[in-house]
Amino acid sequence: MSTQTRGGPVQETSPTFVGMPAFPDAAREALDNTQQRRNLRHATHTIRDKRAAVVEELPGWEALRVAGADAKDEALTHLGDYLEQLEESLTAQGATVHWARDAVEANRIVLEIVRAKEVDEVVKVKSMVTQEIELNEALEEAGIHAWETDLAELIVQLGHDRPSHILVPAIHRNRSEIREIFLREMAKVGRPAPEDLTDDPARLAEAARLHLREKFLRAKVGISGANFAIADTGTLVVVESEGNGRMCLTLPETLVSVVGIEKVLPTWDDLAPMMQLLPRSSTGERMNPYTTMWTGAHDGDGPQDVHVILLDNGRSHVLADTVGREALRCIRCSACLNVCPVYERTGGHAYGSVYPGPIGAVLNPQLRGTSSDIDASLPYASSLCGACFDACPVRINIPELLVELRGRVTAEGHVAEGAAMRAAAWVLSDPKRLAGAQKVSGLVGRAVADRTIRSLPGLGAWTDARDVPTPPTESFRQWWARERGDDR
Ligand code: SF4
Repeated sequence: MSTQTRGGPVQETSPTFVGMPAFPDAAREALDNTQQRRNLRHATHTIRDKRAAVVEELPGWEALRVAGADAKDEALTHLGDYLEQLEESLTAQGATVHWARDAVEANRIVLEIVRAKEVDEVVKVKSMVTQEIELNEALEEAGIHAWETDLAELIVQLGHDRPSHILVPAIHRNRSEIREIFLREMAKVGRPAPEDLTDDPARLAEAARLHLREKFLRAKVGISGANFAIADTGTLVVVESEGNGRMCLTLPETLVSVVGIEKVLPTWDDLAPMMQLLPRSSTGERMNPYTTMWTGAHDGDGPQDVHVILLDNGRSHVLADTVGREALRCIRCSACLNVCPVYERTGGHAYGSVYPGPIGAVLNPQLRGTSSDIDASLPYASSLCGACFDACPVRINIPELLVELRGRVTAEGHVAEGAAMRAAAWVLSDPKRLAGAQKVSGLVGRAVADRTIRSLPGLGAWTDARDVPTPPTESFRQWWARERGDDR
């Protein structure tokens, strides 16, 4: 699909996650991509080692984790009050606050603001929530270009690709692939990449910087999310590494920030643990290079027309779930992705969402429900090894949530496991049925032992990759009857 703006360049849109197959099918396809697996292993191990080193050096890490979790829990427990306070503070500081129930409403509000400015392009700060609502696609459909300015997001956008990691969306790409994308695509949408571009990271970054610079200087509207929103002052916070976010947040005349309602923190004090937890957990740095904080609009200082869209899009539904609400503590650091053995092998696309990895496996079914094959399959996209819980800076017990969600998916009758458990209960509740089942099991055991049966009907996906466990050829009852002559 492509769109063209008034006299602007033709822009091919990127594919979305809509209609992705269930996780097992998507994962099988991803596992065949050896280059991607190599790229992922290298990148995730590099980040996880950096994280481990900076966490190790901080003696009070566990206390910080507890403080971070407590701050988020306090905000979530009284979310309505803190959101109202945030709205009041923002309004008092000259910002315009909008409320959006879902993606459609949020996209409509953004579109109205952008149209009122009579522009056909916007620059964007890296933002998960605007990906969640597919804002770029909505803008492109209306003939407005949304230029991603984060380096990794730029790579994904120019490559007409999907993001595969929360923090490093192009983690599945290596340097030479990025060079090819820049050489092929930059010229179509702006300043071309230099012809002699190499895959040296400094040269690639320079090409991106020059390509983006003209967009920054031209843009009248910037769009962002926010890592945190402080209720008592109305301050929004964006944490980033490259400085591109700072350009988008300060240069344009108009700034529109789409903020998930779970981003609110009660006070500045609650921000303190977060600013230590987030950089260490996400990029393995003691401090991130750029933190931009802004409080409404101020004469002669930054954007003069500041809008904040507070987005629900399923979050209040998650909040109402006393078990699942823990997932709303997430600060999108991606530490759980980098330590997950499943994510490391399948990559992010298999999760069918902008939220991949362990947090995606719990958040997507909660935000979107489990009616689709992909969302019903996600709670099973885990070995339950617990590495994600150990790494999570706000102590989200992801394995526990996954087990809870598996129970719900099974209860809804989505998977064979539920039927198997009901069948087992039926057999085990009657001694005669049990004896009959044990006889059949003995026959199967002999057939497996002499290799007559190599896979079990209905369990092909399981037994294709594993040896069929051999059932005993004789049950205890049969042994007892043979040894003691007592057939009870
Ligand atoms: S669940 Fe925890 S570790 Fe994973 S992205 Fe969210 S905050 Fe980070």
